[in-house]
Amino acid sequence: MISMKDKLDKIQLTQVGTENSEVFKLVECIGEGGQGAVYTTQRKNLLVKLSIAKEDADDIIKAKYRRYGTLRGRRDLPSYLAKPLSEITPIVRDGFIVYGYVMELMEDMVSLHSLFRKNGEKPTVYISRMGGIQRMYVILRKIAEILDGIHSIGYVYGDLNPNNVFISKDPAYTEVQLIDCDNLMVAADYDGFIYYPGYGAPEILKGIARNSSITDIWSYAVLAFYTLQQAMPFQGKMVMDAGTMELSQLERKAEAGELPFIDEDLNNAAAHALPKDVMESPTLQQLFLKAFGKDSSPISRPVLQEWIAEFQNWEHRFVKCSNKDCGSAYLKYKGVNKCPFCDEKSIESFVVCRKMIRHDLSCSQYDSPIIVVDSPVKVEIPISEYKMLQLEVRLDAKLKKVYIKQFSDEDITVEWSIKGIGTGKKVVLRPNTPNGTGLSVLNKEDNFLQFSEYAFCEGNKAQGVLKFTCGGLNG
Ligand SMILES: [Zn+2]
Repeated sequence: MISMKDKLDKIQLTQVGTENSEVFKLVECIGEGGQGAVYTTQRKNLLVKLSIAKEDADDIIKAKYRRYGTLRGRRDLPSYLAKPLSEITPIVRDGFIVYGYVMELMEDMVSLHSLFRKNGEKPTVYISRMGGIQRMYVILRKIAEILDGIHSIGYVYGDLNPNNVFISKDPAYTEVQLIDCDNLMVAADYDGFIYYPGYGAPEILKGIARNSSITDIWSYAVLAFYTLQQAMPFQGKMVMDAGTMELSQLERKAEAGELPFIDEDLNNAAAHALPKDVMESPTLQQLFLKAFGKDSSPISRPVLQEWIAEFQNWEHRFVKCSNKDCGSAYLKYKGVNKCPFCDEKSIESFVVCRKMIRHDLSCSQYDSPIIVVDSPVKVEIPISEYKMLQLEVRLDAKLKKVYIKQFSDEDITVEWSIKGIGTGKKVVLRPNTPNGTGLSVLNKEDNFLQFSEYAFCEGNKAQGVLKFTCGGLNG
């Protein structure tokens, strides 16, 4: 198949202009699909998306340009969506029209696709290029949030795939931006359907549905799965072992989700996939099973809120291997007692924080744990019916202290007890202190910070509690 870039190369286009007489040099093609190609330009953060149509397609182009105009005018679209800034003046050449738009990308972003594992590359090289598994969780959560923002105003994204997702090049950052709003519209406006190979929902491939938020969440599940395991959900043994005769048929079946899910049925297991127990928490594995397993259906497909909650739940449940040659962060859950990358059992010092709201009416339970290793973690605690206090928890393993920093503008008095909730020592957390308040801790000893009691719903009482326990402090 001749690619969009090849077509554009063939007509030797090196620059395009906009209605505002700006000129953009086409520097490098950084992504392409059936719908067009995306180029970097001489302006660092401005990209050009070009598509090509037959010369008599004036009406289609006019309709597209109207849509770009509408999108530009929408203030309620998520800001992490690269909207069209201005339209390219259509160029007629050799019987074709080239058209498109300019969009703005944050600086120093790369496509998710460009980071994926190369042929023969070690999995750990891929994981470290992505900034670790923990960073993957944050990025996947943010993609789900942007998509959810698009759905919440009634739009469908349509063409979610790793070429359209851009993330910070520097692993120290976790910015995410979706580009290419070509297919962004309300579900009812889809005339036919659109999908990127491998990312289309089965009901679209069967021709029984158009694009909708339900098909978007399929594409999202595939994107999340591929990012974590570097394998497509149905491309396992059955496809890999297929003879030449049946290969294309099996590939088609894998594409349409008609083969068994690689993590559910050993007959179609994928030897090339990164191990699920290392890459995914048990509950994430359940979500993938719900999305791709034999009992899955468009109706039971996990919604974006479930993905957001799961990734959020687990993004602070990583510990750090203390083997100096390894130092990997890995998921800590029941049954994991050594580093999956080097089999080392000891881990760097950490604090496990859990918060709870005590009610005098009902039983109270702790939220899911947050593990703090070498960088501070934010926690929120309610201090009145409508007010949350922002806290930052940091461990100084050398000083054997846990530092609590608060972000309100007044003194906050808490009661600090050890071993159980009860009468303790009064501690004042002052605002605007650069390091926060340091509390001396012992290994494996439970500490409780009780915040002041507040009334809610006509006289009921509640109280925020932060429990924290250190591990690995004795080296
Ligand atoms: Zn290790």
